[in-house]
Amino acid sequence: MAHRILPPGSTIGMLGDGQLGRMTALAAARLGYKTHVYAPGSEGSPCAQVSAAVTSAGWDDLDALETFARSVDVVTLEWENVPVAVVEHLGRFTPVHPGGKVLSVAQDRVEEKSFVNALGIGTAPWRAARSAEEVARVVAEIGPRCILKSTRLGYDGKGQARIEPGTDPADAWAAIGSDAGIVEGFVSFTCEVSVIVARGLDGTMAAYPAVENRHKDGILDKTLAPARMSAETAAEAERVARRIAEALDLVGVLAVEMFVTPDGGVLVNEMAPRPHNSGHWTMDACHSCQFEQLVRAVCGLPLGSVERVADAEMENLIGADADRWPELMAEPGARLHLYGKAEARPGRKMGHVTRLLPRT
Ligand code: AMP
Repeated sequence: MAHRILPPGSTIGMLGDGQLGRMTALAAARLGYKTHVYAPGSEGSPCAQVSAAVTSAGWDDLDALETFARSVDVVTLEWENVPVAVVEHLGRFTPVHPGGKVLSVAQDRVEEKSFVNALGIGTAPWRAARSAEEVARVVAEIGPRCILKSTRLGYDGKGQARIEPGTDPADAWAAIGSDAGIVEGFVSFTCEVSVIVARGLDGTMAAYPAVENRHKDGILDKTLAPARMSAETAAEAERVARRIAEALDLVGVLAVEMFVTPDGGVLVNEMAPRPHNSGHWTMDACHSCQFEQLVRAVCGLPLGSVERVADAEMENLIGADADRWPELMAEPGARLHLYGKAEARPGRKMGHVTRLLPRT
């Protein structure tokens, strides 16, 4: 089916105002597109600093949402927890990619795992739990080692509690601070990987190679691109990501995080229908980066080449790490990206640095 191509000069509406929106806006600007960011309290935000227009208004402000939607040519997002009702309201006035169906799957871990399992794709064993008693029952079934997670709004290991033999389920339940949880069996993985796949309005897809992600204190610390693993496992990871993007009928960019098991298989941990921290290396090492792919996908343009010109190692700059900027600026070959955040709070993603390596 023919679709509308938005030419350079068009305006992309961005829901969410963090670094992912910022880097998308920068990629958009390079191709001649403007960005209009919408988020509560977004004046001076990382994305607002580089956007042509800013609306700072709440997710419940229907009038502001309508005015915003009428002022842009398409809407996308950098935060998957934008309320589905917002996306549906905006959709009355302008195309929104990804849409409400994709968000409702990605916002809830139970929905997400059900969706993935229904495609025949494996995850950790899991059960929903709504009380400490239910947690205890599930742990008896799939434990003893488990992770209890809130079903919604968890990220970077927040809203999670490890359950070991001897852990009181009531303590774990209290720790997640939610009335809806999911208990997952603990996976003894050999490494964590992710695949980022872009999918255009016409259904064409382009996937970056699987990368290895190393976490520190529940936050991504380093990404090694490509992942050092067998060609079979890498191919399986890519197949899984493509299958999910297709089944979601996604338009945009999808990141799928997976565990690699000792037998070389993969289990899906979670996914995000937006650019992802583990894809930042593509800015410096690939013909077209993940942010450019998002712009291309939502504007109906052909996807760019995902070919990498180099291998890469990306290091996140968290909190006070960003104070190292003078030394990183002076390091030959270190490609420094800072997000324009004024305050370096602990655990806050302030920037990243990518170092290129000879292509394998
Ligand atoms: P998540 O917020 O779901 O990505 O979880 C944060 C981190 O906790 C993951 O990157 C893993 O290192 C670890 N983790 C999450 N779920 C599991 C699991 N079922 N088994 C083992 N480790 C896990």
